[in-house]
Amino acid sequence: MQTKRRTKIYPLLSEEEPEMPFQLTWLPTVLKNAGLKVSEQPGWPNHGTREMRTIEGVMCHHTVGPKTGNMPSLKVLTNGRPGLAGPLAQLGLGRDGTFYVIAAGRSNHAGNGEWRGVTNGNDHFIGIEAENTGIGKPGDPMHDPWPAVQLDAYRRGIAAILKHIGQKAEMCCAHKEYCRPEGRKIDPHSIDMDEFRKEIAAIMDGTTPVPAPIPNKDPAGRPTLRRSAAANPIFLVQELQKKLGFVGLQVDGDFGPLTEAAVRRFQRQHELVPDGIVGPKTWEVLSRA
Ligand SMILES: [Zn+2]
Repeated sequence: MQTKRRTKIYPLLSEEEPEMPFQLTWLPTVLKNAGLKVSEQPGWPNHGTREMRTIEGVMCHHTVGPKTGNMPSLKVLTNGRPGLAGPLAQLGLGRDGTFYVIAAGRSNHAGNGEWRGVTNGNDHFIGIEAENTGIGKPGDPMHDPWPAVQLDAYRRGIAAILKHIGQKAEMCCAHKEYCRPEGRKIDPHSIDMDEFRKEIAAIMDGTTPVPAPIPNKDPAGRPTLRRSAAANPIFLVQELQKKLGFVGLQVDGDFGPLTEAAVRRFQRQHELVPDGIVGPKTWEVLSRA
């Protein structure tokens, strides 16, 4: 049973015959070369329901996951859920714009549908599941607007993939556009796909400028703080931790994962880009806190 054998995601025991990786082994390199953040998941080159056929394009989804956390749906996307075997996408896209590489093989994301004459979406489209609750309606307690940093990575990642496979922006489709019967899916919510494809085309043409990097200092001379950066002054990280004031967050001057998570939470509460990086905009809101 090839299908079953191929769903393994952990390294094989040495006495077993090594498996050939599936065809999408170029994904991390192509994304990194586009300047994107990439996190390769254990066993991804051999993960897939089987090998894909010709890669024709990219399909966009939202995860319908929890409202907090950067990529809380990662486990489900990797292993599947009752009634649907994993992987459920080749790529996950976190709220901070990180691409999680889950599978180099075929994944169960598309279902029935058609886009530009291509059916059997799972055989021909790379699926990207972007973390989001799936609620696009302001006022709903689960409303989840897309962070700019996530949308920017979404466009840039797709542009890089399409360029690599020699396709144009029109071969990026939404699940909501592909699905049949029409209306079966709504993802990804609140994204005007015609506009999205225009922006992707502009990135591919080189007419979209690369976004300005976060300045190293704010106007008061406070340096930008990031997780594990050697240049983080300890007293400033302590000041940050005090100002964040979350229960359980130690004031130890170490900008580790807990501090980063607290920064993201603070940024979300204050409608800042939840990138976990304390630059001029976050400092400004912190000084008022
Ligand atoms: Zn979908």
